[in-house]
Amino acid sequence: MRAIRLPTACVVVLVGPSGSGKSTWAAAQFRPSQLVSTDALRALVGEGEHDQRAGTDAFAVLDDVLERRLKRGLLTVIDSLGLEERRRRDWLARAHRHGMACHAVIFPTTAEECRRRNRERDRPVPAKVLSAQLRAFEAARAGLADEGFDGVHEPGTVVLTSPELVGAPDAAARQREDPMPLSFGLQIPSYTWSGGAAELAPRLGAIAGAAEDAGFQSLWVMDHMLQIPFIGREWLEMMESYTTLGFLAARTSRIRLGTMVTGITYRNPAHLGKIVATLDVLSGGRATCGLGAAWFEREHRAYGWSFPPLKDRYAMLEDALQLLPLLWGPGAPAFEGRTIRVAEAICYPRPLQERIPILVGGQGERRTLRLVARYADACNLRGDPATVRRKLAVLARHCADVDRDPATVQVTHLSTALVGRDQEEVEQLVASLRPSGSSPEAYRTWANAATVDDHVGRFRELAEAGVEHAIVSLPDLDTPEPVERFGAVIAAFR
Ligand code: GDP
Ligand code: MG
Repeated sequence: MRAIRLPTACVVVLVGPSGSGKSTWAAAQFRPSQLVSTDALRALVGEGEHDQRAGTDAFAVLDDVLERRLKRGLLTVIDSLGLEERRRRDWLARAHRHGMACHAVIFPTTAEECRRRNRERDRPVPAKVLSAQLRAFEAARAGLADEGFDGVHEPGTVVLTSPELVGAPDAAARQREDPMPLSFGLQIPSYTWSGGAAELAPRLGAIAGAAEDAGFQSLWVMDHMLQIPFIGREWLEMMESYTTLGFLAARTSRIRLGTMVTGITYRNPAHLGKIVATLDVLSGGRATCGLGAAWFEREHRAYGWSFPPLKDRYAMLEDALQLLPLLWGPGAPAFEGRTIRVAEAICYPRPLQERIPILVGGQGERRTLRLVARYADACNLRGDPATVRRKLAVLARHCADVDRDPATVQVTHLSTALVGRDQEEVEQLVASLRPSGSSPEAYRTWANAATVDDHVGRFRELAEAGVEHAIVSLPDLDTPEPVERFGAVIAAFR
């Protein structure tokens, strides 16, 4: 069977006469909880599946159910005849109002076959009624292409992809025909690995070595004291960032090293500069200084650190962005910022790099991207290509304000990537990694679960939007194997 690519959140409208195989196909391709069938609703509000007098009520309930499922962002398959244009257009409009795609699947089973299957049914549809359906189907089939559906398909094997990956096959083809350059980084956001703490160091070393071999050009750790809610529970393993980067400096030789990103509240900023300078010297000039305004208040309370209001954290960040290059430079200048006073910004040995690149994390349009334009060497964006384009337009305006060429800001992007060599491996990975509390669709979307080829397409679209360095975190990271597997994506961009 051909594959039908559908986004994990969408509405699927089945269109076909009775006996054309709609319910059978839907049951094979979706979970029961994703199907809303007018037969079942007639049984719910009337005397049974065949209670035609309950039709109006069944459709009223269907409309209500659809609206509520759309609000929850759930994939919904509407299993009805789908032969009335007015209803199809209404479902499509509602899906689009909720920002969701709407696909139609038409069942072109021959009239003869539908009649034969109908005759074999316990309660066949009257022959005249079926003939009318078959005529209505021919009309629907002719008109569907112009109704505005995001896709019109014939039955096939459904492949669910995160909404960002729907256009990936075309983009992957563009990358094959006319390659664009894109470099890659690996972020390690979790240390909850087999073997526990005792095996952590050798595992981390092996993963870092594999990252270099696979062609990753940068390696990032988070700067947190507790695991963050986006990734896992707070008692899960979290390593101190700069100690870890020191270890990684010794275990690697080419890859760049940094935090994604250091909260400005965690350390005295001059001390932070000293740490990063030391990392640069010990790594042979491979340090990048990731900085951000910090957000995880819980951590500050746990460790007894103050967590000033956002406005003050931005002031600290801006001070640090001015102080650090001074500290890394020659001499011992005094620095007086709004929140930081350093009597002598003295740091020897000076870093090996003439300027340690500073990456400011976050994509806040008013403050963060303004600081990037004024002080940073790199920004870090998240989200789909449309978001990237919007943020880069804002960054370009901030650059214009300070007479800076936006091309001098390296555009990095951070995303999660679960990569299978083929669709079968993707399905296995989703099945084995999905936490019990999350639906397969939600997990697929969160992890960007897809094949190598689809990821090539996804990154191609990001490159077209302006991304120069794509940093990924791999949710199946436990051994070097997922890193090696990702190497096939990197290879498509060289
Ligand atoms: P619906 O009325 O469009 O929902 O059709 P159903 O899915 O209920 O299918 C009607 C009958 O056709 C059932 O007896 C199915 O077992 C049979 N059927 C459905 N799909 C296929 C198919 O692909 N091949 C064959 N041979 N029979 C099918
Ligand atoms: Mg049916």
